[in-house]
Amino acid sequence: MKITEIETFLVAPRWLFCRVATDEGVVGWGEPVVEGRADTVRTAVHELSDYLVGQDPLRIEDHWQVMTKSTFYRGGPVLSSAVAGLDQALWDIAGQVYGAPVHALLGGPVRDRVRMYTWVGGDEPAEVADGVAAKVAEGFTAVKMNGSAALGPIATRAETDDVLERLAAVREALGPDRDVAVDFHGRVSPANARRLLPLMAPLHPLFVEEPVLPELGAQFASVVACSSVPIATGERLFGRREFVEPLAAGVSVVQPDISHAGGISEVRRIAAQAEVAGATLAPHCPLGPIALAASLQVAFATPNFLIQEQSLGIHYNVGNDLLDYLVDPTVLRFVEGYVERPTAPGLGIAVDEAAVRRADEAGHRWRAPVWRHRDGSFAEW
Ligand SMILES: [Mg+2]
Repeated sequence: MKITEIETFLVAPRWLFCRVATDEGVVGWGEPVVEGRADTVRTAVHELSDYLVGQDPLRIEDHWQVMTKSTFYRGGPVLSSAVAGLDQALWDIAGQVYGAPVHALLGGPVRDRVRMYTWVGGDEPAEVADGVAAKVAEGFTAVKMNGSAALGPIATRAETDDVLERLAAVREALGPDRDVAVDFHGRVSPANARRLLPLMAPLHPLFVEEPVLPELGAQFASVVACSSVPIATGERLFGRREFVEPLAAGVSVVQPDISHAGGISEVRRIAAQAEVAGATLAPHCPLGPIALAASLQVAFATPNFLIQEQSLGIHYNVGNDLLDYLVDPTVLRFVEGYVERPTAPGLGIAVDEAAVRRADEAGHRWRAPVWRHRDGSFAEW
């Protein structure tokens, strides 16, 4: 069996899909993308295709080794995301060849359903509690919200109170039996984080995510130690090596993105690495249906899995949404905030190829916003 062709599709709202074809008619799909750099990753995928075309698709680990190491320069978001999408497609092919869902190839299911959370509020959360009731009515048992809009290096008393009041309103709307996670999105300085986290602790957030920028690794230990709030990070870390420092600092939840951190192969290893540190896995996934399907396959086979992000209705999904490119969207249906275990071979979804090809004709040019502080200086988004 040989790989014969690798195609890429730039599809709205901000995604890139890859399609790996073989000489035996089996086709695998992946989602190699960095949000806002989709064209750049697309080029990287086609550079990697020069090696992959003609190879046996079932030698997944060998291809992962070659793709990540053979060109001397390694890692980073673009290359790791290109590898990630191709890795997903190779696992999709393997599942179809062996007639099994990917989680069966990873050792079999360790749970029957996977708990999901849903976003409330947008980039600049204001009346975020208003959205919670609708999500509870849909059955979700957990939500995630941005903690703040742009925040200066030392927040004012009013800005600090604003963060706390918004979280308190969401907590009130959820009641004690549901969870709220708070994303600081790297917007919060270490000083702000150390002031905010102890004040947030009585409101019992599930976790606080990216309390500081990932490049401030040396600050993680003090941020973890300043309160009882579980700390999560990892959506901007691209492989095992980059999780060593946060895990040593006591991070409770790792959030590698299956489309950024080397795909199913590497996220599976990061989960095992987290298990050794007593931490759990909550894969980042504000992306499309292929990334979510791949994340779920890992979730069903990972003992220390916590909860799964998904993008249905997320503020980024303008024009198209999570389920638009699936032949049968019911495989990703959320029932009482959970997804049932998929049983189809491979990633467990059927991509609507005609819809994908149509969407690629229009493409997209999604870019992250550029934020400014009130004095006109650059602000972390
Ligand atoms: Mg985040």
